[in-house]
Amino acid sequence: MVTEKMIKIIGQDFIWDKLKLVKSKNKVSNAYLFYGPDGTGKEAMSIKFSALLNCLNKNLAPCGKCSSCLKIKTFQHPNISLIVPLPKEKTINKNDNPNKALTNKTLESIINSFKEKIKNPYLELKIPKANTILINSIRDIRKKVYMKSFEEGYKCVLIFEAEKLMGSQQESANALLKILEDTPSNSTFILCTQYPNKLSNTIKSRCQSIYFPPLKEDDIHTFISKNYSFLDENSKIISSLSNGSLKLVNKIIMNDFVKIQKLILKFVADITSNFDTRKNLIIQLSKDYKFDTEKVKLNLNLLSFWFRDCFYVARNNNISNLIFSSLVNELNVFILKYPKADYTSIIKLIDNSIDYLNKNIQTNLVFLNLIIEINKKLNKKENE
Ligand SMILES: [Zn+2]
Repeated sequence: MVTEKMIKIIGQDFIWDKLKLVKSKNKVSNAYLFYGPDGTGKEAMSIKFSALLNCLNKNLAPCGKCSSCLKIKTFQHPNISLIVPLPKEKTINKNDNPNKALTNKTLESIINSFKEKIKNPYLELKIPKANTILINSIRDIRKKVYMKSFEEGYKCVLIFEAEKLMGSQQESANALLKILEDTPSNSTFILCTQYPNKLSNTIKSRCQSIYFPPLKEDDIHTFISKNYSFLDENSKIISSLSNGSLKLVNKIIMNDFVKIQKLILKFVADITSNFDTRKNLIIQLSKDYKFDTEKVKLNLNLLSFWFRDCFYVARNNNISNLIFSSLVNELNVFILKYPKADYTSIIKLIDNSIDYLNKNIQTNLVFLNLIIEINKKLNKKENE
């Protein structure tokens, strides 16, 4: 295997192979649409493909050492432009550079997050209130792509969260469409989105579409084992929670989910505790849900894993395929406490609750109902 000198992509080998072939056959398209769920490597792949198209050592992978690769690593390559949704903090004129719409502080933080993104392409760019791709960003690109190039290689325009081209009156989308209808040679546009349906058909018809499927659990497990020194049990739990998204993996790890065992024991204890603790838990979950929907759902998924393990231990004491194999003692204590528990119904209950949350049904009611029903299904008496 060739060691990758820059931008490590997890999984998606067949897409990378396809893009390498495109390059070696000199059949680079004017525009690509990389679409698929979040955290599957669309943006990472767009950066890597741009690096490949511009690498001065004409290898099958960007070398990471030539002046072109080095410029990409520091996010200073004149051939590579990145378009992202931006907030409109200041009023600007028609021909102004889009950066003029930003305060200095925002601009600085965006440049820093771009540099971080090149280092870890699976990081989420966090730009507050960035709801649309500004028309000025497209006008600015227009100038750049038609200008004579002083560098060898391909001019690559990467557009992240491309669905946000479709903002007010779709003026950005229309402006882009005009460029796509007459793209100069030696330039390519790569639109990345997890919501391809939000893009107009006219734009999509100009692009060659490439689907990025969710990553395989095995690929994610290997990635975590290589990069972090977690217990194998935890790498497996994180992989199963990740839904095939490396962004979610990053988030789980940054959220201290590595203390999974502690977290789940506390969660289970609170749910089965006295009235006041349960009441506080419902308030807390509703509050957390407003700020970090994903995190609360992860907690519920963990809870579902816990009861799945209870089911196995209670049924046949089969501990070979437990998720929380390090908590086998705690699991045994738990199931002895609730000999009449109906674990299958509890797992179904949790799944339904996640469904309700997705449908934006009043969250505090969802949590209230979930906690009451879990206690019922554990076959507890109310005063316990
Ligand atoms: Zn290179």
